[in-house]
Amino acid sequence: MSDMKGMTALVTGGSRGIGRAICLELARRGASVAVNYAGSEAAARETADQCRALGVEAEIFQADVSDAAACEALARAVRERFGRVDILVNNAGITRDGLLMTAKEEDFDRVIATNLKGAYFCMKAVSRFMVRQKFGRIVSLSSVVGLRGNAGQTGYAASKAGIVGLTKAAAKELAGKNITVNAVAPGYIETDMTAVLPEKTKAAMTATIPMGRPGAAEDVARAVAFLAERESAYITGQVLCVDGGMAV
Ligand code: NAP
Repeated sequence: MSDMKGMTALVTGGSRGIGRAICLELARRGASVAVNYAGSEAAARETADQCRALGVEAEIFQADVSDAAACEALARAVRERFGRVDILVNNAGITRDGLLMTAKEEDFDRVIATNLKGAYFCMKAVSRFMVRQKFGRIVSLSSVVGLRGNAGQTGYAASKAGIVGLTKAAAKELAGKNITVNAVAPGYIETDMTAVLPEKTKAAMTATIPMGRPGAAEDVARAVAFLAERESAYITGQVLCVDGGMAV
C-alpha cells in the first residue's frame, strides 16, 4: 500500500456511500481529505471526523458540482486550505430513473448536469493546479450501466458513458503533464443509491453478478485509491470495473 503522506485529495460527494468510503481509504493511506457535499452537512462532518480519527487533516466543503462557478470556487478553497490538490475523485452522482418514452427531460438534464458536467467542471478547475504542480491523479466514477446500458436508465447510462469519453480525452491531454486520468466502473454496490430499489430489482441485479452478491463501498474505494497512488504513474485513460464480474 502506497504512502499518501503530503498529498491532498478532493472527493466530491464525500458525505455518504462510496464517496465516504473513498475519503476514509485515502485518509488511511495518509492523504489530507477535502470532503465535498451538496446538502448533507452532518454526514459530511461525520466523514471528516472519521478521517481525522485516522490521523490526517480533513475539512468539509459545500458545493453543487452541477454549478461551474461553484466548482471553480471549490477547487480554489481546497487549494487555499491545503496548499495543493493532488487527487481529484469525481464521485458525486445521482439517479433519476424512468423509461425512455415517459421520462422527463428535466430529469435527463439534472443527471447529465450532476454526473457528467460536474466531473467536467471539477476536472477543469483542478487540472490547472495539477499542471502547475506537475503532478495529479484524477479518478471519476463511471458505472457498469455506462458500459452495458440498463433499461430505465437512459440518462444515467449516457452520463456514465460520457465519463468514459471524458476520461480518455483528458488522459491524452494531460499525459505529458504527469497527470493520470482514470475511471472506476462499479456494478451493484450497497449504498443509499441502491437501497431505494424494489427488492425484485435488487434480486434481478444480483442474479446477473457472477459472484452472486452485491459489492461494498469499500471494494470501490480500494480501486480508486490504487489508481490515485503515486506509484500508479503509468496507468491512464483506463476504466476499471469493480463489479464481481457483472460486465464480463
Ligand atoms: P449515494 O449514496 O446516493 O451518495 C451520493 C453522493 O453524491 C452524496 O455524497 C451526495 O451528497 C453527492 N451529491 C449528489 N449530488 C451532488 C451535487 N450536485 N453536488 C455535490 N455532491 C452531490 O451514491 P453512491 O451509491 O455512493 O454513488 C457514488 C458514485 O458511484 C455515483 O457517481 C454513482 O453514480 C456511482 N455508482 C454507484 C453504484 C452503486 O451501485 N451504488 C454503481 C455504479 C456507480 P449529499 O449527501 O450532500 O446529498
